[in-house]
Order: sequence, then C-alpha cells, then structure tokens
Amino acid sequence: MGRRILVIGGLAAGPSAASKAARTSPDAEVVLYEQGEAVSYGVCEIPYHISGEVKAEALSAFTPETLRTTRRVDVRILHRVEEIQPHRRTLRVRNLKDGTTSEERFDRLVIATGSRPRRLGFEGEESRNVFRVKALDEAYALRKFVSEERPRTAVIVGGGYIGMEMADAFTSLGIEVTLLHNSSLPMKSLERETRERVREELEKNGVRFVGMAQAAAFVRGREGKVTHLVTGDGSYEAGIVVVAIGVEPNSDLARGAGIRTGSSGGILTDQRQQTSVDNIYAAGDCCEVKNLVTGRQVYIPLATIASKAGWTAGENAAGGNAVFRGAIRAVAVRVFGLEVAQVGASEEDAREAGFETVCETITGWSRVAVMPGSERVTIRLIADRKSQRLLGANVSGREGAVLRANTLAVAIQQKVTIGEMQQWDLAYSPPFTPLWDPLLVAANAMQRKLRSP
Ligand SMILES: Cc1cc2nc3c(=O)[nH]c(=O)nc-3n(C[C@H](O)[C@H](O)[C@H](O)COP(=O)(O)OP(=O)(O)OC[C@H]3O[C@@H](n4cnc5c(N)ncnc54)[C@H](O)[C@@H]3O)c2cc1C
Repeated sequence: MGRRILVIGGLAAGPSAASKAARTSPDAEVVLYEQGEAVSYGVCEIPYHISGEVKAEALSAFTPETLRTTRRVDVRILHRVEEIQPHRRTLRVRNLKDGTTSEERFDRLVIATGSRPRRLGFEGEESRNVFRVKALDEAYALRKFVSEERPRTAVIVGGGYIGMEMADAFTSLGIEVTLLHNSSLPMKSLERETRERVREELEKNGVRFVGMAQAAAFVRGREGKVTHLVTGDGSYEAGIVVVAIGVEPNSDLARGAGIRTGSSGGILTDQRQQTSVDNIYAAGDCCEVKNLVTGRQVYIPLATIASKAGWTAGENAAGGNAVFRGAIRAVAVRVFGLEVAQVGASEEDAREAGFETVCETITGWSRVAVMPGSERVTIRLIADRKSQRLLGANVSGREGAVLRANTLAVAIQQKVTIGEMQQWDLAYSPPFTPLWDPLLVAANAMQRKLRSP
C-alpha cells in the first residue's frame, strides 16, 4: 500500500495538488476534503456568470465524481478539517452532513485552504442584498437576487479588479453602478496613468466612481435589505451591494498546528511548497510566494500561482522533487472595452526594493495603422538604470494589450535587458501587428531614456 496523502481545500490549489499527487504516485491513496458542496469550479468566471456571458453549467471544471474517476482522487465534499495534529500525523475532520467527526491519518498533507474575503465590519453586512463574490453559492445567490428582484442601483465597495469586473457585469444588466474606492483612482497596483485611463473608461460607461471613499455604515430598510451605503462624505442608494475589498489568507488551521506564517498571515513555504513542518505542504491563496522581481516574500492571491504551486506541492507530497520558483505578479482585467494588464513590479515596489527606476510610456497601434480595427495600445515600461533590466509594465488598449503584456511577463522572469528587448524578432502581419510592434517601439524609447543622464 502506498502513501496516504490528504489534501485540504477543493478549489484551485487543492485539486491541482491532489491530481498531481495521484499521477506521480499511482499506488498512493489521495483524499481531498472540501467544506463546501462543489469542487474545482471557475471562481474567475463568476463575474461573467453574473452578466450572463457564462452559463452556470460551464463554471464547473470537475465534479467530485469526475475527479474520482478521471484523476483517482477520493473527494469528500461537505467535510471540514477542524484541526491538524502534526505530531500524530492526523486530521480531525467534521462531516457537515451529519455533524460527526473522525480522525484521519496521513503520511503527507497538502494545505490548500485558500483565502477569505475581507469584511467591512459594520452592521448590515449580512443583509439579503449584500454580497461577496468569492464562492459559487454566493454567486448563484447573487444572480438569483438580480434576476428575481431586479435592483435598479448597485454599490460596489472596492476598486480592484473584481470591482471592475462586477461594475462591467452590473452595467451590462442595466443596473446603475456606484463604485466606492478608498484611494483617488481605481486599481492601486497599476501606474497612475493607467489608473486614470481605467477611471475614464468606467465613467464613459456610466459608472459613478467615488474616490477616497470610506464606507462607514449601511442604512437598513424592510425585508432584511439595506437601502443605502453611507460614507464619510455621502449616502449612496443601493438596491444591491457587492463588497470586494480584497482577501486574506485562510491560514488559521495551519497556524494552529504550529506552521510558520509570514507578515501577511500567509503560510511560508520553500520552493518545494514544504511548510516549516515536515511532511506538510501548502499552496495557493493561503500562502505567501516569492516575488521574482523584488526577491521578497509577498501575498499574491491569484489562480495562476495557486494552480502551479498546488501542482508542485502535490508532486512533492507524492515523493517527487518539483520546484516552484515564485511569481512576478501578472494580472489582467477587462474594464468594459478596455484590456488592462500589469506584469512585474510597479514603479513604487521596484523603488522600495532598491532599484533605480526609469519609466517610459509609448502609444502604438495594435495592427498596422491603416488596417480596419487597429486600436491604440499604450505601454508603460519600468526598468532598472543600473542593470538595464525590465522590471515591470502596464499595457492597456482596446485590443492586443494582454497578450503583449504576457510577452513582457516572460521577459521580466528571464531578466531580459532593454537592449535585448530591442532585438526581439517578432512576427509582423498587417491584420495582427505593425512592422514595429509597440513592444519594440517601447524598448527603443526606453533605451533612449536609459542613455540620457
Ligand atoms: C471573482 C473572482 C475573480 C478572480 N479572477 C481571477 C483571475 O482572473 N485570474 C487569477 O489568476 N485569479 C483570479 N481570482 C483569484 C483566484 O480565484 C484565487 O487565487 C484561487 O481561487 C485560489 O485558489 P485556492 O485553491 O488557493 O483557494 P480558494 O479558491 O480560496 O479555495 C480554498 C478552498 O478550500 C476550502 N476550505 C478552506 N478551509 C477548509 C477546511 N478547513 N476544510 C475543508 N475545506 C476548506 C474552501 O471552502 C475553498 O473551496 C479571482 C477570484 C475571484 C473571487
């Protein structure tokens, strides 16, 4: 009989770890515990389900049954792990269907307990028309509320990428959106000029953006619903409220077992996703990750990282020797008609990490300018004067922004210099790209700037 590998959490990192463990060690017994009813569904597609672009059936990548039959993972839904006992190598698991608990032995454990949404922390947050968009049941409840009660107005608290996606979704349903954000421009991690462009796009599409807003209280009406959200400066009518003010690592279980966490509260692991306790691995939104540009341990809750780190944890739990080096932070979002992407470090982060930053912005065409459908693409590069390395970039435009940002993401990971970037041999064809791709135009402009004192 092979190892008994237990996995806690069934969304992105957990199923990735469990599947990889089962594939790496065919004689291992792999059991995954998930406290909810569903596993392995598309959280990232939830805003597009709310808007009606994605059908409910399409949200599910695997069911417990298909994970069992195609990946050889024994899935126990509605099972919550309540305690990890590292010295005895056991878990205390509660069966939420009948309330009973059992003790489960493991040889290796993978913690993939993810994150939980931050809360506003004042009364009214549990009202019938106040939602978060983190889990599938919340998404279904939100969609049901919108289709049955047809709210006329929405207040979204939080101007990060989920706030953007929800503003887009509600607007497409004919709901008037007010977006409250605690800084003067949306999307804090972007560069200032990209943030201004995002705000313009929101306003052009009828979203009322309220910057420097501090949500302070709900006004409650009848039927268990709130009617307004009050800030220090005003009161905003809300037929529905979405709170999207970020997430924090769900690491209490790990901490209770004496596993080390970092300053964000995320679990600390090495490059093999091994925690500070032998035989226990962790991956995903419950963990910190190494930022490959700044070299710092940071918290970046993204599916891209969760799935790769999960894979690494699963392979190693099954006796392999996989490595996940870290991440640069690569984020993209559609804001109405605008593609917006950020890869690598922001200027602020790079400067804080000790780089001598040089920034340059160019605007080019997505295709040859005379081709129908060609759109302006704006690229802002952040480089280090000393090493001449590319550290980060923002790319925005109505087409051709995100995939160009992905090219830059690879360059940042490979520590490419601006001089090397100028030499890139990229495909050229009028319907797709200009002869001098905006990436090359940006590299040339940055090189001129780096040469100037
Ligand atoms: C609306 C939205 C859009 C997003 N869009 C993107 C995107 O476009 N790109 C991107 O890269 N990322 C995106 N993300 C982030 C991405 O969804 C997360 O990074 C990813 O889901 C993290 O996966 P995870 O498995 O680590 O954690 P989670 O998704 O948080 O899953 C953890 C699971 O563990 C279970 N669990 C927790 N504790 C226990 C316990 N004690 N016992 C049993 N089960 C437990 C939870 O019920 C949950 O199912 C988005 C997130 C949201 C909410």
